[in-house]
This record gives sequence, structure tokens and C-alpha cells, in this order.
Amino acid sequence: MAEKLNLDDYIRKIPDFPKKGILFYDVTSILTNPRAFQYCVDRMREIYADKKIDAVAAIEARGFIFAAPFAVETHVPLILLRKKGKLPGKTIHRSYELEYGEAAVELHVDDVKKGQRVLLVDDLIATGGTLLAAKELLEEVGAEVPEIFGVMGLPFLNYEKTLTGVPVTTLIEYNHE
Ligand code: AMP
Repeated sequence: MAEKLNLDDYIRKIPDFPKKGILFYDVTSILTNPRAFQYCVDRMREIYADKKIDAVAAIEARGFIFAAPFAVETHVPLILLRKKGKLPGKTIHRSYELEYGEAAVELHVDDVKKGQRVLLVDDLIATGGTLLAAKELLEEVGAEVPEIFGVMGLPFLNYEKTLTGVPVTTLIEYNHE
């Protein structure tokens, strides 16, 4: 079981990064604290212990960090959703809007099996645009996305409205910019 810990104590907040008006919630301060990092992975295992999850998919780059130990510890495949142009095999991609800018996410077609129930993971959910693009890519190749996980959530950016129909779970939510 995950030990009791106030995750907020381990999240560095940086105003005006990467541009003015954005409060950046930094995961590196979780990663440099083994207890806090372990807590996040333990909580993920607890939350999804009773759900039927066949694979975990993660968003580059900070989603990888949390999905990888989860994949190893729960013995499920890890699927990488990368920035465009990084994956060498046959891919599909989708463009989306960020809280600050525009981006595209790409998926190896052969990394996903039809009917696979995939838990989708990122470090922080802001508008939900990244996860929606990722979810649509996974569904395009025949997977199901029954659950979405983020270590942190910014509900005031309305990700629940973007990611309708899928339960979204976060470990900590921030309701201010
Ligand atoms: P979104 O598509 O709007 O949900 O944006 C989520 C992605 O952008 C995640 O991969 C986050 O790592 C990053 N991100 C967006 N806003 C912030 C923020 N305020 N602090 C830290 N990371 C952020």
C-alpha cells in the first residue's frame, strides 16, 4: 500500500514558465525524492489493481517516467506516444492544441493490439488536448481506452469536458493558474 504523503510538498511551482501567465507544475521535484516517486507509482497500482488493464500507454516525455515502472510492476506492455518524427516504424499521428502552443503526437501502429484495454498516462492534465489526441490514435488502431491517469490535474482548464466518457483520475488537483 502507498504510504501517506502530501504530494503537494514535492511539486515545485514555477511562475511564468515557459511563458508569462503559466504556472508550471514541475515533476522533477517528485523524481528527485524517492519516497514521492514511489508513492505515485504505488498509488497507480492501487487505483488500477481491480480494473482490467492490458497495456499502459504514455505521452512523451514526462508520461513515460510514471508509466514505465507501472508497466514493469504490473507486467503489462508499455506503448509510447511520441512527438512526431521520432518513431522509426509505421506510424499514425494527430495534431492538437496545447495550453501554450501546438503539437503532434505519433504512435507505432504495430505496438497496439485490437481490443486491448489501454490505460493512458501523462504527468499533468491541463486542457486534455494531448490525451484526447493520444486516445483517438489508440482507438484508430483498434484499442480501447477505459481509463486515463495523470499525476496532476488542472480542472479549471476543463479537461473533463474534453475527455468525455472516460474516467480521469489524478493524484492531486490544482484549481488556480
Ligand atoms: P494539455 O494537452 O493541455 O492537457 O497539456 C498537457 C501537457 O502539457 C502535459 O504533457 C504536461 O506535461 C504539459 N503541461 C501543460 N500545462 C502545464 C503546466 N501548467 N505545468 C506543467 N506542465 C504542463
